[in-house]
Amino acid sequence: MKLPIALRNFDGPLTRELVREPGKFGLGQVPGKVAPDAATTMVCGFCSTGCGLKIHLKDGQAVNLSAETDYPVNLGMACPKGWEALTPLAAHDRATTPLLRNEKTGEMEPVDWERALVLFCERFKDIKAKHGAESVAFLSTGQIVTEELALLGSLWKFGMGFLHCDSNTRQCMATSHVAYKQSFGFDAPPFTYADFEESDVLVFVGANPCIAHPIMWQRVMRNPHGPEIIVVDPRKTETAMAATQHFALMPKSDLTLLYGIAHMLIAGEKIDRDFIAAHTSGFAEFAGFVMRFTPVHVAAQTGLTIAELSRLAQTIGDGKRVSFWWTMGVNQSHEATRTAQAIIALALITGNIGRPGTGANSITGQCNAMGSRIFANITSLLGGHDFKNAEHRAKVGRVLGIPDEKIPTEPSLAYDQIVQGIEDGKIKGLWVIATNGSHSWIHQDRFNALLAKLDFLVVQEMYASTETARHADLVLPAAGWGEKEGTLINSERRIGLVKKVSRAPGQALADFHIFQLIAHYWGCGAMFARWSSPEAAFQLMKEISRDQPCDITGIADYAHIDAAGGIQWPWTSVANDECRMTNVEGAMPPQQRRLFADGKFFTPDKKARFLFDMPRPVAEPTDADFPFVLLTGRGSSSQWHTGSRTDKSDVLRKLAPAHCYVEINPADAVRLGIEPGSEVRIASRRAEITAAAFVTSTVRAGQLFVPMHYRELNRLTHASFDPHSRQPSYKYCAVALAAG
Ligand code: SF4
Repeated sequence: MKLPIALRNFDGPLTRELVREPGKFGLGQVPGKVAPDAATTMVCGFCSTGCGLKIHLKDGQAVNLSAETDYPVNLGMACPKGWEALTPLAAHDRATTPLLRNEKTGEMEPVDWERALVLFCERFKDIKAKHGAESVAFLSTGQIVTEELALLGSLWKFGMGFLHCDSNTRQCMATSHVAYKQSFGFDAPPFTYADFEESDVLVFVGANPCIAHPIMWQRVMRNPHGPEIIVVDPRKTETAMAATQHFALMPKSDLTLLYGIAHMLIAGEKIDRDFIAAHTSGFAEFAGFVMRFTPVHVAAQTGLTIAELSRLAQTIGDGKRVSFWWTMGVNQSHEATRTAQAIIALALITGNIGRPGTGANSITGQCNAMGSRIFANITSLLGGHDFKNAEHRAKVGRVLGIPDEKIPTEPSLAYDQIVQGIEDGKIKGLWVIATNGSHSWIHQDRFNALLAKLDFLVVQEMYASTETARHADLVLPAAGWGEKEGTLINSERRIGLVKKVSRAPGQALADFHIFQLIAHYWGCGAMFARWSSPEAAFQLMKEISRDQPCDITGIADYAHIDAAGGIQWPWTSVANDECRMTNVEGAMPPQQRRLFADGKFFTPDKKARFLFDMPRPVAEPTDADFPFVLLTGRGSSSQWHTGSRTDKSDVLRKLAPAHCYVEINPADAVRLGIEPGSEVRIASRRAEITAAAFVTSTVRAGQLFVPMHYRELNRLTHASFDPHSRQPSYKYCAVALAAG
């Protein structure tokens, strides 16, 4: 069997080589780029803040880390997860060899890579032959490096000939992706983190950065202008407690509120008519639409007083540099895209975009959600291109050296549609990469029941112990952050480096190498010969990005990113040439760049668009049987999503309650005879769980809050979706509460 370029130094059977001499494969070796007893800087692999961490090495291995003082993102700070980033690599339950389920005993048994890869290909080819190319799907992640995402998406669609795939970014950022694309013409978060420090008014809608993005919150705390900090959130979050104004609206009345504020700003002439005329289209229609959202109507719908509405509108209207920030409270809703676009509309009508301290700014969740949004080849063709556009397909085909006809002309099914496809018997095979849907997907019991319907489930993971891996027929052991190299793109569009500073255990391989091997065993290795290393893949991504809004042709290589302290897109070859012509020795891209300073958006007419719809009722309103609204969100800054990594740290586990808890308003607790700390039962139409009662006024009467990190939570949630982004609506379902 002919080996791919990256593996041609092997002279024996691949699997034996891997087992006997992993160093030959790059396994177990820290690359020569990092001096063995030095320190090196790389970006954190948890959240989208993208902090720089200084990794301290001894004999070529990471032994400790500290927060990088010179990195322009975190300025010497890190949250608990960052400080503990190395710990999960040493966990006892790392997957160290491929594991195959024994059909007779049902137990997972170690197999060698050769057998695992042959089986992977045989089983998926068999399903494809019997049921067609649309019968197998993958679900991936925003947690692996961009080069891996690009290779995976290309391998799947161009090499293996499949169509359907999605990522766990559907659960967090699909809304922002669609909202920006429709409003600005490209998925382009406009801000840079310096804006946190330059605003005189910051408006957080459905965002709790104190907990979810603690270093961004530290940047807010460094703001020297004594800013008004406004939080719009039903719950009195940690951020709301620290804010100057908190508007505790009724859950999921945010779209009505935003339209109402737009109405008040327009009626009060607190808008920037020059900006609107020059840089937007559709304002007259928007202004006409929001006139029906009178203060009386909005007050009735949101539960806020007219005085509160006036104060909110006045603070925004009087601000000189107003920035709007949103995250999952907006994105995970039944009308999420229009809500995000209502925030964008407020920034547009007040001219708060393109200037320091302004912007309609979506804060991303995962460390590489932005990489996934642009380069995963899932909803957009590589580089933010369009599958339906023949010129785009030709360009991508030319850069990659593949025939255009290998490129699909339509995007994939979304995550929920893939799940539905399993239920309908249309999806028979599934490959899950670095995500844990058995814990995190909405209406979890249904998801897990459907996994059993699959003919073949492959899970590629660092740990064989995740809830999803336990369902697998085949587990492929993957290296983690710090055990491989590549780039991540953070919330402010900054491309940062991940380096290999630790040995992956056993036979675990970088996802990039696993994808290379699959290409080889599938029989399409030649198509991916140019993808010989992550850095070679980066060079392909650069060329694909040429002339796109995310053009990064001015970035020379990984060393350039390293020296610059990360580089925000866009950074074009033209910009880079101009930068070098300054003749300043070592001239580097400016460290803080925002989009739309020239008022030109990425739409055909260069104008931003207003998009709006009438608010819709929630999918599952409360009633007599299920009278409580269940809110969900992050619990603490020491927990990350399903805990597959953060739960490995003794330190991080001590910083958050070990068991599921629920926040209950004191009035409800008294009425139902619930003692603080006692066990309570929470039931939805789908399941019943138990949790410890945390009696607190953070939630109002009739509302409950359960953190997302506890696996039982998504047994309760209701599978409804935003129609534009198909993002799940995790933030609202009807439940009942009773003493345990
Ligand atoms: Fe890592 Fe995010 Fe914490 Fe920074 S804020 S250290 S990127 S988890």
